[in-house]
Amino acid sequence: MAKPTIVILGAGYAGLTAALTLQKNLTEDDAKIILVNKHSYHYQTTWLHENAAGSLHDNHTKISIDKLVDQEKIECLVDTVTEIRSEKQHVCLAEHGCITYDYLVVALGFEMNTFNIPGVTEYAYTIGSIDKSSHLRQQMDIKLAAYSKQKSDHPFTIVVGGGGFTGVEYLGELTDQLSDWCKKYQLTKQDFKLITIEREHSVMPGFNLELGEYAMQALENKGITFYLGTSVKRVRADHVIVEKNSWTQEIPMSMFIWTAGVRANRLIEQSDLPNKNGSVEVTADMRVPHSKNVFVIGDSATIYHPEHGEAVPPTAQMAMQQGKICAKNIVAMIKGDKKEIKPFNYKEQGIIASLGKKDAIGILFNNKKIFGREAVMLKRLIENRVLYQLGGLSLLRKKKKF
Ligand code: FAD
Repeated sequence: MAKPTIVILGAGYAGLTAALTLQKNLTEDDAKIILVNKHSYHYQTTWLHENAAGSLHDNHTKISIDKLVDQEKIECLVDTVTEIRSEKQHVCLAEHGCITYDYLVVALGFEMNTFNIPGVTEYAYTIGSIDKSSHLRQQMDIKLAAYSKQKSDHPFTIVVGGGGFTGVEYLGELTDQLSDWCKKYQLTKQDFKLITIEREHSVMPGFNLELGEYAMQALENKGITFYLGTSVKRVRADHVIVEKNSWTQEIPMSMFIWTAGVRANRLIEQSDLPNKNGSVEVTADMRVPHSKNVFVIGDSATIYHPEHGEAVPPTAQMAMQQGKICAKNIVAMIKGDKKEIKPFNYKEQGIIASLGKKDAIGILFNNKKIFGREAVMLKRLIENRVLYQLGGLSLLRKKKKF
Protein backbone atom coordinates (compact mmCIF):
# COMPACT_ATOMS: atom_id res chain seq x y z
CA MET A 1 0.00 0.00 0.00
CA ALA A 2 1.30 3.48 -0.87
CA LYS A 3 2.39 5.45 2.16
CA PRO A 4 0.09 8.33 3.14
CA THR A 5 1.01 11.97 2.55
CA ILE A 6 0.69 14.35 5.50
CA VAL A 7 0.69 18.04 4.58
CA ILE A 8 1.22 20.66 7.30
CA LEU A 9 0.41 24.27 6.44
CA GLY A 10 2.34 26.82 8.52
CA ALA A 11 5.48 26.46 10.64
CA GLY A 12 4.43 28.61 13.58
CA TYR A 13 4.23 27.15 17.09
CA ALA A 14 1.37 24.81 16.14
CA GLY A 15 2.58 23.54 12.74
CA LEU A 16 6.21 23.20 13.76
CA THR A 17 5.34 21.26 16.92
CA ALA A 18 3.10 18.96 14.83
CA ALA A 19 5.96 18.39 12.35
CA LEU A 20 8.52 17.69 15.09
CA THR A 21 6.15 15.25 16.84
CA LEU A 22 5.43 13.39 13.59
CA GLN A 23 9.15 13.23 12.85
CA LYS A 24 9.75 11.63 16.23
CA ASN A 25 6.98 9.04 15.91
CA LEU A 26 7.05 8.01 12.23
CA THR A 27 9.72 6.54 9.97
CA GLU A 28 10.29 7.46 6.31
CA ASP A 29 8.40 4.27 5.39
CA ASP A 30 5.34 5.20 7.44
CA ALA A 31 4.45 8.46 5.70
CA LYS A 32 5.55 11.26 3.44
CA ILE A 33 5.48 14.52 5.42
CA ILE A 34 5.43 17.92 3.71
CA LEU A 35 5.73 21.16 5.72
CA VAL A 36 4.74 24.31 3.85
CA ASN A 37 5.67 27.74 5.20
CA LYS A 38 5.90 31.25 3.73
CA HIS A 39 9.52 31.59 4.85
CA SER A 40 12.47 29.23 5.25
CA TYR A 41 12.42 30.14 8.94
CA HIS A 42 10.04 29.91 11.87
CA TYR A 43 9.75 33.11 13.88
CA GLN A 44 8.96 33.47 17.57
CA THR A 45 5.67 35.35 17.34
CA THR A 46 5.72 36.00 21.08
CA TRP A 47 8.86 38.13 20.61
CA LEU A 48 7.53 40.31 17.78
CA HIS A 49 6.82 43.34 19.99
CA GLU A 50 10.56 43.46 20.71
CA ASN A 51 11.43 43.38 16.99
CA ALA A 52 8.80 46.04 16.33
CA ALA A 53 10.29 48.37 18.98
CA GLY A 54 13.87 47.65 17.92
CA SER A 55 15.01 46.09 21.19
CA LEU A 56 15.65 42.70 19.54
CA HIS A 57 17.31 41.96 16.20
CA ASP A 58 15.09 40.17 13.65
CA ASN A 59 17.67 37.44 13.17
CA HIS A 60 17.36 36.46 16.81
CA THR A 61 13.64 35.87 16.36
CA LYS A 62 14.05 33.82 13.17
CA ILE A 63 14.95 30.14 13.43
CA SER A 64 15.92 28.30 10.28
CA ILE A 65 13.46 25.42 9.75
CA ASP A 66 16.19 23.28 8.14
CA LYS A 67 18.02 23.33 11.47
CA LEU A 68 14.97 22.06 13.36
CA VAL A 69 13.56 19.31 11.16
CA ASP A 70 15.11 16.13 9.82
CA GLN A 71 15.02 16.62 6.07
CA GLU A 72 15.23 12.88 5.50
CA LYS A 73 11.78 12.67 7.05
CA ILE A 74 10.19 16.02 6.23
CA GLU A 75 10.11 17.85 2.93
CA CYS A 76 10.05 21.59 3.57
CA LEU A 77 8.45 23.78 0.92
CA VAL A 78 8.98 27.52 1.18
CA ASP A 79 5.82 28.75 -0.45
CA THR A 80 2.55 30.59 0.13
CA VAL A 81 -0.64 28.60 0.46
CA THR A 82 -3.26 30.09 -1.85
CA GLU A 83 -6.14 27.61 -1.61
CA ILE A 84 -7.46 24.81 0.60
CA ARG A 85 -10.02 22.46 -0.99
CA SER A 86 -10.95 19.61 1.29
CA GLU A 87 -13.53 18.13 -1.09
CA LYS A 88 -10.70 17.60 -3.61
CA GLN A 89 -8.19 16.64 -0.85
CA HIS A 90 -5.72 19.20 -2.10
CA VAL A 91 -4.06 22.49 -1.25
CA CYS A 92 -2.60 24.90 -3.79
CA LEU A 93 0.62 26.83 -3.41
CA ALA A 94 1.79 29.95 -5.25
CA GLU A 95 4.92 28.32 -6.71
CA HIS A 96 4.63 24.55 -6.35
CA GLY A 97 1.10 24.07 -7.74
CA CYS A 98 -1.49 21.87 -6.00
CA ILE A 99 -0.59 18.98 -3.68
CA THR A 100 -2.90 16.12 -2.78
CA TYR A 101 -2.92 14.95 0.84
CA ASP A 102 -4.18 12.03 2.88
CA TYR A 103 -3.93 14.03 6.12
CA LEU A 104 -3.97 17.80 6.33
CA VAL A 105 -2.90 19.96 9.26
CA VAL A 106 -3.93 23.60 8.92
CA ALA A 107 -1.80 25.81 11.20
CA LEU A 108 -1.77 29.14 9.39
CA GLY A 109 -2.08 31.31 12.50
CA PHE A 110 -3.60 34.74 12.87
CA GLU A 111 -3.75 38.11 11.19
CA MET A 112 -4.61 41.50 12.65
CA ASN A 113 -8.30 42.31 12.81
CA THR A 114 -9.08 45.83 11.62
CA PHE A 115 -12.81 45.55 12.48
CA ASN A 116 -13.33 47.45 9.18
CA ILE A 117 -12.35 50.74 10.83
CA PRO A 118 -11.72 53.16 7.96
CA GLY A 119 -8.04 53.91 7.40
CA VAL A 120 -6.57 51.14 9.60
CA THR A 121 -5.53 49.00 6.61
CA GLU A 122 -4.06 52.02 4.79
CA TYR A 123 -2.32 53.95 7.58
CA ALA A 124 -1.75 51.71 10.59
CA TYR A 125 1.41 49.77 11.32
CA THR A 126 0.97 46.37 12.95
CA ILE A 127 2.91 43.67 14.81
CA GLY A 128 1.24 40.73 13.05
CA SER A 129 4.29 39.02 11.54
CA ILE A 130 8.06 39.39 11.43
CA ASP A 131 7.80 41.35 8.15
CA LYS A 132 5.20 43.71 9.60
CA SER A 133 7.22 44.24 12.80
CA SER A 134 10.37 44.97 10.76
CA HIS A 135 8.47 47.41 8.60
CA LEU A 136 7.14 49.24 11.66
CA ARG A 137 10.63 49.54 13.17
CA GLN A 138 12.16 50.74 9.88
CA GLN A 139 9.43 53.35 9.41
CA MET A 140 9.86 54.51 13.01
CA ASP A 141 13.58 55.07 12.28
CA ILE A 142 12.88 56.93 9.04
CA LYS A 143 10.24 59.16 10.64
CA LEU A 144 12.34 59.89 13.73
CA ALA A 145 15.30 60.85 11.52
CA ALA A 146 13.07 63.19 9.49
CA TYR A 147 11.53 64.68 12.66
CA SER A 148 14.92 65.39 14.23
CA LYS A 149 16.02 67.23 11.06
CA GLN A 150 12.96 69.46 10.73
CA LYS A 151 12.94 70.48 14.46
CA SER A 152 9.15 70.90 14.65
CA ASP A 153 7.37 72.53 17.61
CA HIS A 154 4.91 69.64 17.62
CA PRO A 155 5.84 66.51 19.53
CA PHE A 156 6.55 63.24 17.76
CA THR A 157 3.26 61.54 18.62
CA ILE A 158 2.94 57.77 18.65
CA VAL A 159 -0.62 56.52 19.03
CA VAL A 160 -1.19 52.86 19.85
CA GLY A 161 -4.66 51.53 19.11
CA GLY A 162 -5.45 48.86 21.71
CA GLY A 163 -4.34 48.43 25.31
CA GLY A 164 -4.60 44.64 25.28
CA PHE A 165 -1.84 42.06 25.71
CA THR A 166 0.08 42.89 22.50
CA GLY A 167 -0.37 46.65 22.93
CA VAL A 168 0.89 46.57 26.50
CA GLU A 169 3.93 44.43 25.64
CA TYR A 170 4.78 46.75 22.75
CA LEU A 171 4.38 49.86 24.93
CA GLY A 172 6.76 48.38 27.50
CA GLU A 173 9.46 47.89 24.86
CA LEU A 174 8.74 51.24 23.23
CA THR A 175 9.26 53.16 26.46
CA ASP A 176 12.51 51.22 27.06
CA GLN A 177 13.74 52.42 23.66
CA LEU A 178 13.12 56.13 24.27
CA SER A 179 16.55 56.89 25.76
CA ASP A 180 18.29 55.23 22.80
CA TRP A 181 16.14 57.15 20.32
CA CYS A 182 16.86 60.41 22.13
CA LYS A 183 20.61 59.77 21.86
CA LYS A 184 20.47 58.56 18.26
CA TYR A 185 18.30 61.42 16.97
CA GLN A 186 19.39 64.21 19.38
CA LEU A 187 15.91 64.46 20.89
CA THR A 188 14.64 64.75 24.44
CA LYS A 189 11.85 62.76 26.07
CA GLN A 190 9.73 65.94 25.93
CA ASP A 191 9.82 65.66 22.13
CA PHE A 192 7.66 62.53 22.40
CA LYS A 193 3.96 62.15 23.09
CA LEU A 194 2.80 58.56 23.64
CA ILE A 195 -0.91 57.81 23.62
CA THR A 196 -2.86 54.57 23.90
CA ILE A 197 -6.50 54.30 22.91
CA GLU A 198 -8.49 51.54 24.64
CA ARG A 199 -12.20 50.97 24.01
CA GLU A 200 -12.80 49.27 27.37
CA HIS A 201 -12.52 51.01 30.75
CA SER A 202 -9.38 49.16 31.83
CA VAL A 203 -6.07 48.15 30.32
CA MET A 204 -5.78 44.48 29.27
CA PRO A 205 -9.54 43.89 29.38
CA GLY A 206 -10.40 40.27 30.13
CA PHE A 207 -7.17 39.82 32.05
CA ASN A 208 -7.02 40.18 35.82
CA LEU A 209 -8.15 43.69 36.88
CA GLU A 210 -5.41 44.17 39.49
CA LEU A 211 -2.71 43.19 36.99
CA GLY A 212 -4.25 45.52 34.41
CA GLU A 213 -4.09 48.38 36.94
CA TYR A 214 -0.46 47.55 37.70
CA ALA A 215 0.38 47.55 33.97
CA MET A 216 -1.35 50.91 33.43
CA GLN A 217 0.39 52.51 36.39
CA ALA A 218 3.79 51.21 35.31
CA LEU A 219 3.31 52.45 31.75
CA GLU A 220 1.94 55.83 32.87
CA ASN A 221 5.08 56.22 34.98
CA LYS A 222 7.06 55.64 31.80
CA GLY A 223 5.21 58.43 29.98
CA ILE A 224 2.19 56.78 28.34
CA THR A 225 -1.19 58.56 28.40
CA PHE A 226 -4.19 56.22 28.28
CA TYR A 227 -7.53 57.19 26.75
CA LEU A 228 -9.84 54.57 28.27
CA GLY A 229 -13.44 53.96 27.18
CA THR A 230 -12.43 55.50 23.85
CA SER A 231 -12.86 53.97 20.39
CA VAL A 232 -10.80 54.53 17.26
CA LYS A 233 -13.25 55.68 14.59
CA ARG A 234 -11.02 56.58 11.64
CA VAL A 235 -7.32 56.76 10.85
CA ARG A 236 -5.88 59.23 8.38
CA ALA A 237 -2.28 59.85 7.31
CA ASP A 238 -1.59 62.38 10.09
CA HIS A 239 -4.39 62.05 12.63
CA VAL A 240 -6.72 59.62 14.36
CA ILE A 241 -10.36 60.31 15.07
CA VAL A 242 -11.53 58.83 18.37
CA GLU A 243 -14.87 58.80 20.15
CA LYS A 244 -15.78 58.76 23.83
CA ASN A 245 -19.37 59.03 25.10
CA SER A 246 -20.50 60.25 21.64
CA TRP A 247 -17.86 63.03 21.62
CA THR A 248 -15.30 62.85 18.85
CA GLN A 249 -11.76 64.15 18.99
CA GLU A 250 -9.02 64.43 16.40
CA ILE A 251 -5.54 63.45 17.61
CA PRO A 252 -2.67 64.58 15.39
CA MET A 253 -0.05 61.83 15.18
CA SER A 254 3.24 60.86 13.60
CA MET A 255 2.69 57.09 13.72
CA PHE A 256 -0.33 54.93 14.46
CA ILE A 257 0.17 51.33 15.58
CA TRP A 258 -2.81 48.99 15.60
CA THR A 259 -2.63 46.14 18.11
CA ALA A 260 -6.31 45.70 18.96
CA GLY A 261 -7.37 42.22 18.12
CA VAL A 262 -6.46 39.29 15.96
CA ARG A 263 -8.49 37.01 13.75
CA ALA A 264 -7.84 33.65 12.12
CA ASN A 265 -6.06 33.53 8.77
CA ARG A 266 -8.37 34.74 5.97
CA LEU A 267 -7.40 31.82 3.73
CA ILE A 268 -9.56 29.52 5.86
CA GLU A 269 -12.54 31.80 5.34
CA GLN A 270 -12.02 31.40 1.59
CA SER A 271 -11.68 27.61 1.85
CA ASP A 272 -14.45 25.01 1.90
CA LEU A 273 -13.82 24.22 5.60
CA PRO A 274 -16.75 25.12 7.89
CA ASN A 275 -15.62 28.26 9.73
CA LYS A 276 -16.69 31.44 11.47
CA ASN A 277 -14.57 34.41 10.33
CA GLY A 278 -11.81 31.98 9.42
CA SER A 279 -11.78 30.09 12.70
CA VAL A 280 -12.83 26.44 12.78
CA GLU A 281 -14.76 25.01 15.74
CA VAL A 282 -12.78 21.80 15.89
CA THR A 283 -13.85 18.50 17.40
CA ALA A 284 -12.27 17.19 20.62
CA ASP A 285 -9.40 15.54 18.70
CA MET A 286 -8.69 18.76 16.72
CA ARG A 287 -10.37 17.65 13.51
CA VAL A 288 -12.72 19.67 11.31
CA PRO A 289 -16.32 18.56 12.09
CA HIS A 290 -17.39 15.65 9.84
CA SER A 291 -13.90 15.31 8.40
CA LYS A 292 -11.76 12.22 8.87
CA ASN A 293 -8.43 13.65 7.84
CA VAL A 294 -8.32 17.47 8.21
CA PHE A 295 -7.01 18.98 11.46
CA VAL A 296 -6.96 22.67 12.37
CA ILE A 297 -4.68 23.82 15.19
CA GLY A 298 -3.32 27.00 16.75
CA ASP A 299 -4.87 30.43 16.26
CA SER A 300 -7.12 29.15 13.44
CA ALA A 301 -8.96 26.75 15.75
CA THR A 302 -11.74 27.62 18.20
CA ILE A 303 -12.00 25.52 21.32
CA TYR A 304 -14.26 26.05 24.31
CA HIS A 305 -13.35 25.96 27.97
CA PRO A 306 -14.75 22.76 29.54
CA GLU A 307 -15.91 24.60 32.69
CA HIS A 308 -17.29 28.01 31.69
CA GLY A 309 -17.94 27.17 28.03
CA GLU A 310 -16.35 30.33 26.63
CA ALA A 311 -13.91 30.26 23.70
CA VAL A 312 -10.35 29.91 25.02
CA PRO A 313 -8.14 32.82 23.83
CA PRO A 314 -5.46 31.45 21.48
CA THR A 315 -1.91 31.42 22.80
CA ALA A 316 1.45 29.99 21.81
CA GLN A 317 1.38 27.45 24.63
CA MET A 318 -2.02 26.20 23.47
CA ALA A 319 -0.83 26.07 19.84
CA MET A 320 2.12 23.87 20.86
CA GLN A 321 -0.05 21.53 22.94
CA GLN A 322 -2.48 21.20 20.02
CA GLY A 323 0.37 20.54 17.57
CA LYS A 324 1.50 17.64 19.72
CA ILE A 325 -1.90 15.99 20.21
CA CYS A 326 -2.88 16.43 16.54
CA ALA A 327 0.37 14.75 15.41
CA LYS A 328 -0.11 11.90 17.88
CA ASN A 329 -3.66 11.39 16.60
CA ILE A 330 -2.42 11.22 13.00
CA VAL A 331 0.20 8.65 14.05
CA ALA A 332 -2.55 6.59 15.74
CA MET A 333 -4.70 6.76 12.60
CA ILE A 334 -1.83 5.73 10.33
CA LYS A 335 -0.94 2.85 12.62
CA GLY A 336 -4.62 1.83 12.83
CA ASP A 337 -4.61 2.27 16.60
CA LYS A 338 -7.99 3.96 17.14
CA LYS A 339 -7.74 3.69 20.92
CA GLU A 340 -4.78 6.07 20.82
CA ILE A 341 -6.80 8.90 19.23
CA LYS A 342 -7.04 11.32 22.15
CA PRO A 343 -9.07 14.47 22.84
CA PHE A 344 -7.22 17.72 23.40
CA ASN A 345 -7.20 18.75 27.06
CA TYR A 346 -5.76 22.21 27.42
CA LYS A 347 -3.36 22.49 30.33
CA GLU A 348 -3.36 26.12 31.31
CA GLN A 349 0.11 27.04 32.52
CA GLY A 350 -0.60 30.72 33.15
CA ILE A 351 0.39 33.75 31.13
CA ILE A 352 2.90 36.56 31.59
CA ALA A 353 3.00 39.93 29.84
CA SER A 354 6.19 41.94 29.76
CA LEU A 355 6.23 45.67 30.50
CA GLY A 356 9.67 46.24 29.02
CA LYS A 357 12.87 44.47 29.98
CA LYS A 358 12.64 45.05 33.74
CA ASP A 359 8.98 44.62 34.62
CA ALA A 360 6.18 42.16 33.91
CA ILE A 361 2.87 40.89 35.22
CA GLY A 362 1.42 37.43 35.16
CA ILE A 363 -1.07 34.96 36.41
CA LEU A 364 -0.02 31.39 37.08
CA PHE A 365 -1.91 28.11 36.56
CA ASN A 366 -2.97 28.20 40.25
CA ASN A 367 -4.30 31.77 39.83
CA LYS A 368 -1.37 33.26 41.73
CA LYS A 369 -0.57 36.76 40.53
CA ILE A 370 3.03 37.77 40.00
CA PHE A 371 4.62 41.16 39.35
CA GLY A 372 7.98 42.80 38.68
CA ARG A 373 11.27 40.92 38.81
CA GLU A 374 9.67 37.54 39.61
CA ALA A 375 7.41 37.80 36.55
CA VAL A 376 10.35 38.89 34.35
CA MET A 377 12.39 35.86 35.43
CA LEU A 378 9.50 33.48 34.85
CA LYS A 379 8.80 34.94 31.41
CA ARG A 380 12.44 34.32 30.43
CA LEU A 381 12.17 30.78 31.77
CA ILE A 382 9.06 30.10 29.68
CA GLU A 383 10.66 31.59 26.56
CA ASN A 384 13.75 29.44 27.06
CA ARG A 385 11.61 26.35 27.65
CA VAL A 386 9.85 26.93 24.31
CA LEU A 387 13.25 27.16 22.60
CA TYR A 388 14.27 23.89 24.22
CA GLN A 389 11.03 22.20 23.15
CA LEU A 390 11.51 23.32 19.54
CA GLY A 391 15.22 22.78 19.05
CA GLY A 392 16.76 21.17 22.14
CA LEU A 393 19.90 22.36 23.86
CA SER A 394 21.63 23.67 20.73
CA LEU A 395 18.79 26.10 19.96
CA LEU A 396 18.56 27.10 23.61
CA ARG A 397 22.29 27.90 23.69
CA LYS A 398 22.04 30.01 20.55
CA LYS A 399 18.87 31.95 21.27
CA LYS A 400 18.33 31.89 25.02
CA LYS A 401 17.14 35.00 26.79
CA PHE A 402 18.53 36.16 30.13
P1 FAD B 1 1.71 31.58 14.03
O1 FAD B 1 2.69 31.52 15.13
O2 FAD B 1 1.12 32.84 13.61
O3 FAD B 1 2.25 30.74 12.80
C1 FAD B 1 1.60 30.71 11.56
C2 FAD B 1 2.63 30.38 10.48
O4 FAD B 1 1.95 30.23 9.22
C3 FAD B 1 3.68 31.48 10.29
O5 FAD B 1 4.95 30.91 10.19
C4 FAD B 1 3.27 32.13 8.95
O6 FAD B 1 4.37 32.66 8.23
C5 FAD B 1 2.66 30.94 8.22
N1 FAD B 1 1.69 31.34 7.20
C6 FAD B 1 0.64 32.17 7.35
N2 FAD B 1 -0.04 32.27 6.19
C7 FAD B 1 0.60 31.48 5.30
C8 FAD B 1 0.36 31.15 3.93
N3 FAD B 1 -0.68 31.63 3.25
N4 FAD B 1 1.22 30.28 3.33
C9 FAD B 1 2.27 29.75 4.01
N5 FAD B 1 2.52 30.02 5.30
C10 FAD B 1 1.71 30.87 5.93
N6 FAD B 1 1.07 33.71 23.37
C11 FAD B 1 1.50 33.18 24.54
O7 FAD B 1 1.16 32.03 24.86
N7 FAD B 1 2.35 33.88 25.37
C12 FAD B 1 2.81 35.12 25.05
O8 FAD B 1 3.56 35.73 25.82
C13 FAD B 1 2.39 35.71 23.82
N8 FAD B 1 2.86 36.91 23.43
C14 FAD B 1 2.51 37.41 22.22
C15 FAD B 1 3.08 38.63 21.82
C16 FAD B 1 2.77 39.17 20.58
C17 FAD B 1 3.39 40.46 20.16
C18 FAD B 1 1.86 38.48 19.72
C19 FAD B 1 1.52 39.05 18.35
C20 FAD B 1 1.29 37.27 20.11
C21 FAD B 1 1.61 36.72 21.36
N9 FAD B 1 1.08 35.51 21.77
C22 FAD B 1 1.48 34.96 22.98
C23 FAD B 1 0.12 34.75 20.94
C24 FAD B 1 0.87 33.68 20.13
O9 FAD B 1 1.97 34.25 19.49
C25 FAD B 1 -0.04 33.00 19.11
O10 FAD B 1 -1.14 32.47 19.79
C26 FAD B 1 0.74 31.89 18.39
O11 FAD B 1 1.74 32.46 17.58
C27 FAD B 1 -0.17 31.02 17.53
O12 FAD B 1 0.60 30.04 16.90
P2 FAD B 1 0.20 29.49 15.46
O13 FAD B 1 1.16 28.39 15.14
O14 FAD B 1 -1.26 29.18 15.41
O15 FAD B 1 0.38 30.70 14.47
